[in-house]
Amino acid sequence: MKDKRLYVVEDLCSGCRMCEMVCSFLRIRAYNSRKSKVRIVKVEWEGVNIPIADCDGIDCAKLSPLGVPRCVEACPTGALMFAEAGEAAERRRLLATQRIMQPIFKVIAPWKWPFPWRPWREVAHEEVG
Ligand code: SF4
Ligand code: SF4
Repeated sequence: MKDKRLYVVEDLCSGCRMCEMVCSFLRIRAYNSRKSKVRIVKVEWEGVNIPIADCDGIDCAKLSPLGVPRCVEACPTGALMFAEAGEAAERRRLLATQRIMQPIFKVIAPWKWPFPWRPWREVAHEEVG
């Protein structure tokens, strides 16, 4: 867990607010987004959601059996990650590469998605064949 911290990949956020809910329940055992250390800012005119974390995730990860902060576990798209700086940069690079191959990586991160990295054309062809 050495040198790992919470990172945000803003453009993967779907705005589902699972992270806010989980964090709020951890802290006050109820849902109140204002009590969460990660908040989602919705920018209506741009159609984007931006997670803002007032937390490095380190204490939370120490308390988790998986060694991963609860908000990271709960995030379905991979917009939150707990990683070392180099690892975080590598994941961003992986995302940029995979987006070229598979459009779904516009909404979900490869590190959250167990599907093999192949173009959709190939996958569709195998299913039909
Ligand atoms: S790491 Fe833990 S305390 Fe920090 S924002 Fe995530 S759930 Fe909340
Ligand atoms: S960061 Fe993840 S869990 Fe939080 S709102 Fe965005 S997609 Fe949902």
